[in-house]
Amino acid sequence: MTKYVFITGGVLSGLGKGLVTCSIGKMLEVRGYKVTAIKCDPYLNVDAGTMNPYIHGEVFVLDDGYEADMDLGTYERFLKGGFSKFNNATSGQIYQEVIRREREGSYLGKCVQIIPHVTDEIKRRIRLMAEKSEADVVLVEIGGTVGDIEGLPFLEAIRQLIYEEKRVDTTLVHLTLVPTLSAVGEPKTKPTQHSVKELRAIGLKPDLIVARTEFGRLEHEYKAKIAGTCNLEERAVFSSINVSILYDLPLELENQGMGPLIVEYLGLNGNKPDWAEWTDMVTSYKKPTDVINIAMCGKYAELADCYVSVNEALRHSAAKAGCQVNIDWIETEVFEENIKKAKILDGYDGVLVPGGFGLRGAEGKIIAINRARVYNIPFLGICYGFQLATIEFARNMAGLEGAHSTECVPEAPHPVIDLLPEQKEISKMGGTMRLGANKIEVEAGSMAARLYGTTEIKERHRHRWEVNVEYFEMLEKAGAKFTAVSKEKKLKEILELPDKYFFMGTQFHPEFKSRPWAPSPPYYGFVKSAYDKKMGKPKPEF
Ligand code: GLN
Repeated sequence: MTKYVFITGGVLSGLGKGLVTCSIGKMLEVRGYKVTAIKCDPYLNVDAGTMNPYIHGEVFVLDDGYEADMDLGTYERFLKGGFSKFNNATSGQIYQEVIRREREGSYLGKCVQIIPHVTDEIKRRIRLMAEKSEADVVLVEIGGTVGDIEGLPFLEAIRQLIYEEKRVDTTLVHLTLVPTLSAVGEPKTKPTQHSVKELRAIGLKPDLIVARTEFGRLEHEYKAKIAGTCNLEERAVFSSINVSILYDLPLELENQGMGPLIVEYLGLNGNKPDWAEWTDMVTSYKKPTDVINIAMCGKYAELADCYVSVNEALRHSAAKAGCQVNIDWIETEVFEENIKKAKILDGYDGVLVPGGFGLRGAEGKIIAINRARVYNIPFLGICYGFQLATIEFARNMAGLEGAHSTECVPEAPHPVIDLLPEQKEISKMGGTMRLGANKIEVEAGSMAARLYGTTEIKERHRHRWEVNVEYFEMLEKAGAKFTAVSKEKKLKEILELPDKYFFMGTQFHPEFKSRPWAPSPPYYGFVKSAYDKKMGKPKPEF
C-alpha cells in the first residue's frame, strides 16, 4: 500500500521546498521505508533542457539522459533511490500526452478538458511512479507557489487523489514564509494564514506547516497562532531555519519532532530511526578548519544557481579530504583584454573550468587553463573545460596554431573539437545533445583508474562537440594522455597530464553523480591535490 506525502509552497518561491521534501524523505528512509519523489513542474516546457540555466538554475542530467529541474539533483544527493524521467512531470509533458491522445481519437468524441482529462493524466503519472518504484512512500512536490494560475491543475489533481485514497495514506505539508521585519522584531504569521486560505479555497487543507524563518525556531506563541488560524495541531508546525550546511536540515526537522509525526499521520508502524550514518556525514562537513580556495572560471552571467552540482561535488570532496572549500568566481573575460590579470590565479589552490557554451569568454578560459598548466596549479576541466584544455594543449604543446572548437570558430584551421556527423544533421534543440550515462573504458594504471578504483565507469554527458578523431595522434604525440574513451564509439573522455601536480579534464559531468557520502572521484582527486599542495605535501598517490 503506497502512502503519499504532498508538498506545496506558499507566499513566495525559493523557500527551499526541494530541501524540505528531501528532509522528509530522509526521515522516512532512516526508519527503513523505501521512498521516491516526483517533482511536478507547472511550466509548459517538456523538460528543463531548453531553459536558460542562468535564469532558471542548473539543468540536472539523470542516468537515462533526462534533462531535469535542479530539484532532481537535490533528490539524488539526499535520497537513496535511483531517479529517472518518471520522477519529473511537467505541464508540457502532461498536455503533450493529452493532446496526443486527443489526436489519436482516444477520447471518443468527448470535449477534452482540464478537469477531468488533464487532472486524470497528472494522477496517472503520480500513480504510475508509485507503482514503478515500489516505494512505501511517494513524495509529491508541487513546483511554484499556491495561487499561481498554472499550478491549479496539479493542485486540483492532488485534491482528487487525497479524496480517492484512504485518509491515512496521504498527508499534505505546506511550506510558507514567516518573515521578521527588523523594525518590528516580531515574526509575522499573516502571509502564512493567507497562503493557507488560498489552499482552502481549492479544497486542500495542510496537515503540517513548515515555516521558513530567518531567525531560528518559532516560539510557542507563534506556532500556536499558526495552528489556531490554519486548523492544525501546534505540534504540526515546524521551522525551517537557516542551516550552515544543507544536509543538516533533516536532522534539524527531526529534532523538532517532524519524523515521528509524519509516520503517525501516515499510519506507519514507526520503526526506530537510525541517523548514525547521516550524522557522521554531517559532522565530517563541519569539523575541518583548513580552507582551500578554488577559482571557478567563467562569465559573471553564469553565476547564480547554474553550478549547484559542481559546488556540491567540491564540498563532498572537501569533507572527505578533511578541509573546507571556498569557491571564488573568477571573471575570465577580463584576461582577454589583459593577459597579466590571469596572475590572480596563482593565489588559488585550484583552478576549475566548468561546463559552458559558446564563443564569448572562451579565450579567457583558455588563458586560465594555460596559467594553471604552466604554473602547475591543480586543474579540473569539466566538459567545455575539458574541450578548452584540449585546445590549449593543441595550440601550445602540439604546435597547432589557431586550434579551436567549431562551436566557436566554424572555419578553425585546426578543428580539434568538432561535431560528430550525427550531430551535424540535428536542427531541433530539445533533448538532442549527447545525454545521459554511457559506459566508459578507463586505461589501467592511469590516475583516473586509480581514482575510480576500476577501469569501467558510467558517467553522465550533456554536450554536442567531441575531440576530433583526426587529431588524436598529434595530441598524444605531444604528450596529452587521453586515459578514458567511451565504450561504444571510442570518443575521448578524460585528459590527464601526469607530469603535473594534478591536471584532469573530463568530457562527461562527474558532478551529477557526486553524493555527500560518495564524492565524485575526479573532484576528489582535484580537491585532495589542491589541499595537499597547499600544505606543501608531495603529489598525492591516488
Ligand atoms: N559546448 C560544449 C558542447 O556542447 C560543452 C557543453 C558543456 O560544457 N556541457 O559540446
